[in-house]
Amino acid sequence: MDVLISGASIAGPALAYWLGRFGHQATIVEVAPALRTGGNAVDFRGPLHMGLLDRMGVLPALREVQTGGTAMRFVDADGKRLMEWPAGLAGGDLEVRRGDLARILCDAAPTTEYLFGDRITAMAETADGVSVTFASGSRRRFDLVVGADGVHSGVRRLAFGPEEQFVKHLGYYVAGWDVPDEWGLGGDLHPTTPPTALNRTEGMLIYNEPGRMISVGGDHRHTGRAGAFVAFASPQLRYDRHDRDAQKRLLHERYAGMGWLAPRLLEALDAAPDFWLDQICRVDNPHWTKGRVALVGDAACGATIGGQGNGTALVSAYVLAGELAAAGGDHRVAFPAYERRIGKFARGTQKGGDTTGKFLAPKTAAGIRARNYLNNKKWVIDLTFKIAADRSTNLDLPDYPALAATR
Ligand SMILES: Cc1cc2nc3c(=O)[nH]c(=O)nc-3n(C[C@H](O)[C@H](O)[C@H](O)COP(=O)(O)OP(=O)(O)OC[C@H]3O[C@@H](n4cnc5c(N)ncnc54)[C@H](O)[C@@H]3O)c2cc1C
Repeated sequence: MDVLISGASIAGPALAYWLGRFGHQATIVEVAPALRTGGNAVDFRGPLHMGLLDRMGVLPALREVQTGGTAMRFVDADGKRLMEWPAGLAGGDLEVRRGDLARILCDAAPTTEYLFGDRITAMAETADGVSVTFASGSRRRFDLVVGADGVHSGVRRLAFGPEEQFVKHLGYYVAGWDVPDEWGLGGDLHPTTPPTALNRTEGMLIYNEPGRMISVGGDHRHTGRAGAFVAFASPQLRYDRHDRDAQKRLLHERYAGMGWLAPRLLEALDAAPDFWLDQICRVDNPHWTKGRVALVGDAACGATIGGQGNGTALVSAYVLAGELAAAGGDHRVAFPAYERRIGKFARGTQKGGDTTGKFLAPKTAAGIRARNYLNNKKWVIDLTFKIAADRSTNLDLPDYPALAATR
C-alpha cells in the first residue's frame, strides 16, 4: 500500500518504519522546510517503551546520544537547592533530545519518501483510496492517510472537524530553545570555571516565580549547548503558530522582570535556531480513525508534555502498522482493532499531562512552597514514580505474526 503520513517528528517516522517492515511504502509530508531539530530531553521508561525501541533496532544509536538522565533541581534565586526530582524519575530509563530522536527514527526507515515544506489541504475518499491535494498544488492518490501531525493536527481537522472540538487547553504554555552552556552544566567542558552552585550540577536547574518557571539543562555529551525550557500559566492565547518571531516576542513579554538566569536565557532566545512553543493541552477524540484516515501519536491522544507522549507515539505507530498487517491491509478490520488495542493504555498515559503545568509553575508563592515541601518527601517521589511506571506499562504489546516473518 501507499500510505501518506502527515508529520515528521516522532509518531510519523516510527509509523513509516513499521509500515516499511510490513512491506508498504510510506510518504511523509512535513510542513517545516526540514526535519525539526528542536526540543528538550524526552524520555522512555519501562519494558514496553524500551522493548519497542529494541525491536526497531534504534537502541544503539539512541544510547550514543542519550543525555544521561537529567535530575530536576528546583532552586531559589541564589541557586540554593529547594527540592529535587531524581534522574530516574525525571529522565526514565533512556533520555534523549527530541531532535536526536526524530533524526534517528527517520534514519531507521531509509525508503520513506519525504515532502518537506508542504501540507495536506484537502482529502477526498474514493472507493479505492484517498485523493489528496497539497498546499503546493500537487495532487496524489494514496491508499490510506495518517495524521501524525501533533496536538494541532491538520489531518484531524480535515477528517474529524475543528480543533476546538477535540483539544482542551489546560491553562499553561511551554517553550524550549537551545542556549550556549556558559555554566558548564554539561560536565567538565569548562574546567576553569570556579565551582558554584550552578556548575557543580549536571542536570536541569529550575527557578519559579508565581505562575512562571524557567530552567536550563545541561547535556552530558559536553556539546557546549544547553536547553532552556519554560512553563507559564495563561488562558488560551491567540498567536500565529507558524510565526516564530511573534512567539519569541510573546515570551519576552511573559518573562519580563523575572530574576535568576532569566535575562541571560531570554537573551539567547533571539538567536536560537529552533524554538518550540505550545499550549499544554489534552486531545480528547473519541475515535482515531474514520474511513481511510487514521491518527497516531499526539494527533490522536496527545497531552503536549508530561503524558509520556513519545512512548505512546511509538506504541500507537507500531500497533496501527501491526493491525494493518494482521488484517492483510484491510483498514476496515485494522482500524477498529487499533483503537480497541491501545485506547485504554493511551488515555491512561495522557492523564500525566493534566497536572504538568500546575507542578512546573504553581500560580502562587504558597503553591510553590507546598509543591517543594511535598516533593521533598520520599514517599511522594516513590508514589509519583510508581504511577508513571504503571501507566507506561499498562499494555501487553502484541507480537504480530506478519512481523515475525520479516525478521
Ligand atoms: C519542535 C518540537 C519540539 C518539542 N519539544 C518537546 C520537549 O522539549 N519536550 C516534550 O516532552 N515534548 C516535546 N515536543 C512534543 C513531542 O515531540 C510529542 O509530544 C511526542 O513526541 C509525540 O510526537 P508526535 O510525532 O505525535 O507529534 P509532534 O512531535 O508534535 O510532531 C508533529 C509534527 O507534525 C508537523 N506538522 C504539524 N502540522 C502539520 C501539517 N498540517 N502538515 C504537515 N506537518 C505538520 C510538525 O511540524 C511536527 O514535525 C516537541 C515537538 C516539536 C514538534
